[in-house]
Amino acid sequence: MTPGPVDVPSEALLEMARPIFHHRTAKFRELLEETTGLLKQVFRTKSDIVTFTSSGTGAMEASIVNILRKDEKALFVSGGKFGERWGNIAKAFGIETVEIKMPYGNAVDPEDIRKALDADPKIKAVYTTLCETSTGVVHDIRAIGKIVKDTDVLLVVDGISSVGAVEIETDEWGVDMLVVGSQKALMIPPGLAFLTVNDKAWAKVEQVSAPAFYLSLKAARKSMAKSDTPYTPAITLIAGLKQSLDMIVTEGVENVWKRHAKLADATRAGVKALGLELFAESPSNSVTAVKVPEGVDGAKIPSKMAEDHGIRIAGGQADMKGKIFRIGHMGYVDKIDVIGVLAALEMTLADLGHKFDVGASLRAAQDIFLAG
Ligand SMILES: *Cc1c(COP(=O)(O)O)cnc(C)c1O
Repeated sequence: MTPGPVDVPSEALLEMARPIFHHRTAKFRELLEETTGLLKQVFRTKSDIVTFTSSGTGAMEASIVNILRKDEKALFVSGGKFGERWGNIAKAFGIETVEIKMPYGNAVDPEDIRKALDADPKIKAVYTTLCETSTGVVHDIRAIGKIVKDTDVLLVVDGISSVGAVEIETDEWGVDMLVVGSQKALMIPPGLAFLTVNDKAWAKVEQVSAPAFYLSLKAARKSMAKSDTPYTPAITLIAGLKQSLDMIVTEGVENVWKRHAKLADATRAGVKALGLELFAESPSNSVTAVKVPEGVDGAKIPSKMAEDHGIRIAGGQADMKGKIFRIGHMGYVDKIDVIGVLAALEMTLADLGHKFDVGASLRAAQDIFLAG
């Protein structure tokens, strides 16, 4: 129950246990075509999707180096560890950045993006995050898309911990590039990253001489025309991905979003019933960040819960260490998983000295589930 890596369903695990096969074959090309088609349904796009053999950050890097020239600027929304990563990648490639910084736990005001774009015509791409996993905040990408859509600026969204759990309409909202990773709501082990590239983004890719080789989008495009990848793909992970995507599409993408909304609702009601407060101003349906109550050693909550009850949640990162803990409820998760994590949380908090009405979180969560 962390915000990734998540549980992998047995359908995908068994598929990945099969013997390896060669990738320069019709069998692999068919597999890649099929998974790309399924990804398009889940990502809500008709655009191209590039599959990289890397963790999610590889696709973040690809979405910077392939579309910006050295004389252009990147606008990025921080307010959390992953938003900050956008800025760190740009800086590593000598690309000037403009930062919109909010206090941790807050969502960006889309109007601030409009103001920043109006103030600096050198900004040619906006980098933001659908769910900022480090704070549990979900940003209003629909509203940001409206602002960026009719400009010559590209909108790039990190959907790594949210796509497959939280509503996203990539094409309709005007997202030019969407970054996704395999080990979050897509229910596959770490090792694959995905990047959607629409026509507006391809046009920019073609103009930029990118300081990239392995992550070159021009190289990816060339191979894509033959349903291929430039270098050896992670065949096993892609075979597993096909199974997990089949599960998502069979359940129905909208139903998957609804299930996550319900699980998140129950989790939020549960922790509130224990007298705890949420950290995020606009909480994501994929991960719930909770403030550690006064008098409790927050750094001990995740480790103690794992040791005593075999359920792993995440603590806070960097400055937030010991101040918050995060419960992931994305992917292969159901009602009883949420009840289980709340029960383990209650026992852990009781052992660490927090006073509350035992069973209150379970009643609150079950009330939500029983309401249908
Ligand atoms: C997990 C995560 C990442 C990092 O991806 P890696 O797979 O560790 O490279 C980036 N952004 C967000 C929002 C994430 O949740």
